[in-house]
Amino acid sequence: MLQISNLSSGYGDKSGYTEVLKNFDLLLEDGEIAGIVGESGSGKTTLLRTIMGELYRSDGDILHNGKSIFSRELYSEFKSKRILVRQDSLNILKPKYSVEFQLKKLYKGGKYLREDVDWAFMHLNLSQDVLEKLPAQLSDGTRHRVVLAMAAIMKPEILLLDEPTTGLDSSSILGFLNLLRDLSKSTSIIFVSSDVVPVFQVCHRIYVMKNGMLLEDGNWENLINRPYHPYTMDLVRYVPSMENRNLKYNPTDNGEDSECVFFRNCDHISDQCRTIIPYKKNGDHGYRCIRYPEWTHD
Ligand code: SF4
Repeated sequence: MLQISNLSSGYGDKSGYTEVLKNFDLLLEDGEIAGIVGESGSGKTTLLRTIMGELYRSDGDILHNGKSIFSRELYSEFKSKRILVRQDSLNILKPKYSVEFQLKKLYKGGKYLREDVDWAFMHLNLSQDVLEKLPAQLSDGTRHRVVLAMAAIMKPEILLLDEPTTGLDSSSILGFLNLLRDLSKSTSIIFVSSDVVPVFQVCHRIYVMKNGMLLEDGNWENLINRPYHPYTMDLVRYVPSMENRNLKYNPTDNGEDSECVFFRNCDHISDQCRTIIPYKKNGDHGYRCIRYPEWTHD
């Protein structure tokens, strides 16, 4: 189980610190996949990099099976148990070596398990002849799938995926989502994407972010059928169905911290929205909207 509580983090150097992620909470039970959705700049990648221990954490904690992943004694141990597949992960493939050679290297002297490779390749629609190829002989899409296969084969305890479906064709996306379902039996997975469609297809619990803040979280059925936040309502309109075709696009504009971050885009504003909005819970469904449920009757 992975539990993130009140996590704040950001980027800094000698000249100062800029907080990006603000008081973020997440609970990922074993066997579940958590999805994080939001537009670019909402803090999704910052969250993943903080879990990897790459960024300054100003507040909060992350517990894995009840132990802080930042604790001095466990830091190195957890470092080897988590993998982040970054948006630019194509670059991890070494140009001089075949794909199979690089897959064998993952086992670090242990037995090369060909059935694991076959399992990942089958889901990702990769043919066996890819194994003999050098990375330069493969298209970007194929190299991307090879990188995803490598991450899956390593079966880490925590797998963090940053926009993993970008550049994949639709049949590869479906195969990839099946692979995640299989993998989630033994791996805690956080799937970050600005494309809501694959997230709603595979994730059990979904977290909606904007401006580094959590605006809503809940199981996928509640978020799609009963969103508490108008921003979530906007996002789920893009999950395809016949009624959702030809919808008007609403460009978004960011608010200041002293008001709701969705203030300038929301059709339901009132004076109450010009304050810092607290995060509330209704059972296991969380939200950051001061006018819920009033706004649903506007
Ligand atoms: S707090 Fe106000 S501005 Fe923000 S989402 Fe709710 S109704 Fe809209």
